[in-house]
Amino acid sequence: MKPLPDERGYFGVWGGRFVPETLMAPLEELTRAWREARRDRQFRRELEELLSSYCGRPTPLSLAGRLSGHLGGARIYLKREDLAHTGAHKINNALGQCLLARRMGKPRVIAETGAGQHGVAVATAAALLGLECRIYMGVEDERRQALNVYRMKLLGAEVVGVDAGSRTLKDAINEALRDWVTHVRTTHYVLGSVLGPHPYPVLVRELQSVIGAEALLQIRSRHGGLPALVVACVGGGSNAAGIFSAFVPYRQVELVGVEAGGRGSALGEHAARFAGGAAGVLHGTRTYVLQDQLGQVAATHSVSAGLDYPAVGPEHAFWHDSRRASYVRVSDDEAVEAFHLLAELEGIVPALETAHALAYVTHVAGRLRREQAILVNLSGRGDKDVAEVAQLEGVRL
Ligand SMILES: *Cc1c(COP(=O)(O)O)cnc(C)c1O
Repeated sequence: MKPLPDERGYFGVWGGRFVPETLMAPLEELTRAWREARRDRQFRRELEELLSSYCGRPTPLSLAGRLSGHLGGARIYLKREDLAHTGAHKINNALGQCLLARRMGKPRVIAETGAGQHGVAVATAAALLGLECRIYMGVEDERRQALNVYRMKLLGAEVVGVDAGSRTLKDAINEALRDWVTHVRTTHYVLGSVLGPHPYPVLVRELQSVIGAEALLQIRSRHGGLPALVVACVGGGSNAAGIFSAFVPYRQVELVGVEAGGRGSALGEHAARFAGGAAGVLHGTRTYVLQDQLGQVAATHSVSAGLDYPAVGPEHAFWHDSRRASYVRVSDDEAVEAFHLLAELEGIVPALETAHALAYVTHVAGRLRREQAILVNLSGRGDKDVAEVAQLEGVRL
């Protein structure tokens, strides 16, 4: 089978490039630049060197011994992206794209952010490489994530509030795209997940594939073979695509993506695109989109800001339709329960996004045999969510 996406950025019927004419040239330039950079020994060596000496890669694979014992089935292994610099997988993509920006001769980067995790990662990489940095963020998110706003400013970034639409992530992406159109000669747009027009879905997946490449070697040597199941949470889908990519060729390995089931199944109460979405175009790509009957993009809800987005990466749409991966939903309450469980049994406070993947594992681990392994992508640490969980539980800090 030919590797996907095709030259036009399609994964089957999903993906592509649905953008105004003015963005076609910069997207072509980016596609060319990435094609050359990924083949350039020196570029690859510099990226690998920074991933190891600055980000702390390879991240460890931890056997969750007490959690496995508690659930009474498969051995559960955690791929520890929470231990990467800035506390999540997002730095892998941010650093790769900032290096690419420098190689393209662009002194300025811009990015969108929702909860602020991608914004912090980009501001970090920009500080390291000496790039000018501007982050777009909905004013509603700025209010909810004041600490991350200040963190980005500490890192030397300018944070611009977006007061349009729902004043959240989707509006920040619109504004970042608008900035990019007007400053394309000097500016690279660092998109934060496997979303957007071609080449972003493949570019971000390739930069995150380091997670799966490491995990495949690690689990073979620790467990002595392949896992039965690989589980990851799916917001845009970058941490999932990063770990799935290494296992896709092994048909015997089941891949499961976990979406935000929120508070219920009514439109507006969740962010489960595969349960409630339909084909549509959002932010330049054709994929599953949560929308009303007139095709208006729906509001979404999740306890975890990182999963709270109405569309999903087009490659996940392809894996879903071709049945190479399956997608399930986990509610806010189940995620919070798994958040506590991992903290108490393993001494790891996971991000609420990650807790969705863990909650699914608690449902299925007991059905597997002891010699089988489940690999979970521990996409990030939960320090950012501690205050939120305390508030949900009525604890005054
Ligand atoms: C941003 C984020 C996610 C969701 O993004 P993906 O692109 O789906 O990976 C998941 N986990 C953590 C810790 C995050 O910060």
